Amino acid sequence: MSSSNGTTTVITNIATLVTNDPSLGDGSPLGLIQDAAVVIDGDRVAWTGESSKAPATDNRVDAEGRAVIPGFVDSHSHLVFAGDRTQEFNARMSGRSYSAGGIRTTVAATRAASDEELEANLTRYLAEALRQGTTTFETKSGYGLTVEDEARSLRIAAAHTDEVTYLGAHIVSPDHADDPAVYVALVTGEMLDACAPYARWIDVFCEKGAFDGDQARAILTAGKAKGLHPRVHANQLTYGPGVQLAVELDAASADHCTHLTDEDVDALAHSRTVATLLPGAEFSTRAEWPNARRLLDAGVTVALSTDCNPGSSFTSSVPFCVALAVRDMGMTPDEAVWSATAGGAAALRRTDVGRLTPGAYADLALLDAPSHVHLAYRPGVPLVSRVWRRGVPVI
Ligand SMILES: [Zn+2]
Repeated sequence: MSSSNGTTTVITNIATLVTNDPSLGDGSPLGLIQDAAVVIDGDRVAWTGESSKAPATDNRVDAEGRAVIPGFVDSHSHLVFAGDRTQEFNARMSGRSYSAGGIRTTVAATRAASDEELEANLTRYLAEALRQGTTTFETKSGYGLTVEDEARSLRIAAAHTDEVTYLGAHIVSPDHADDPAVYVALVTGEMLDACAPYARWIDVFCEKGAFDGDQARAILTAGKAKGLHPRVHANQLTYGPGVQLAVELDAASADHCTHLTDEDVDALAHSRTVATLLPGAEFSTRAEWPNARRLLDAGVTVALSTDCNPGSSFTSSVPFCVALAVRDMGMTPDEAVWSATAGGAAALRRTDVGRLTPGAYADLALLDAPSHVHLAYRPGVPLVSRVWRRGVPVI
């Protein structure tokens, strides 16, 4: 196969290839091809099919009967922060009360950190995620909560990903605890102006104790007017207006979706809004699991993500979330792998990642196992053995 930019590589002898193209292979949503090959041309996938039919290429990699999947698309993380909350987690898991300030603890540490410290922290967690197969990630601000600290968080994030989300509306800033309306005006005014150049998305934590439905609508609407697309932290801790608001505003994603009415499920099923489930949060807080089965049976598009953050879900491991979703949320292994790859891409309204079909980015993970099912079957085992990102072997 001739290349547009010099080098083609075939990965051959793949026992199970997940393409996420139902027109390929077994016709399932995963588009599984047995005894498969993938051809990479530059940064893109050029060909997928049976090994015996693969075209000639410059380079050849033997997968030795192992599985290849699209790189994970982690569509929800909070990686621009400083400090950690070990004591809070330890107390929670030990049944002790703990009176530290939760998110406020991280806000204080983040404000006190230098740009270099924040970037070093972010880079470390990105490397950790990449080793576990994550090739696309979204990340947010939300631990600065001043104009300067939110803008610099997003500037630092934007140096590492295109999927940057402005979350000035994470909690009401401690500086404005007595007057939330003043803080909402800041988030929709000066802070938005400073942050919009670095962000693609705007998000709000719509929850009792954070922002109510009217505040959330005002914040997301202001963001839309500045060209940012909405996504919503919705219905995590309690029932509430978050999911309906996400659908009303055509948000790309409603994230958490743990407490849903039948009307919420129905609204999601008749919308373009993806339900992003974040089982690391329920794991780390011993909370009730979201019911993935109910959403899938209703026809809702489901994504799985880490929610990686120092307070409520300090894991960067998508394979861990896949295992939880299969064990505790009613997903099949096939559904969980789809949601962690193509589902994540849908939650970011991307079609160039999360699938291994001609024209998509050559972002893929080679598992030290013969099938993708092993991600749930062998929980906690580091099965990702090699990773290509944009056609380049990075692990
Ligand atoms: Zn979150």
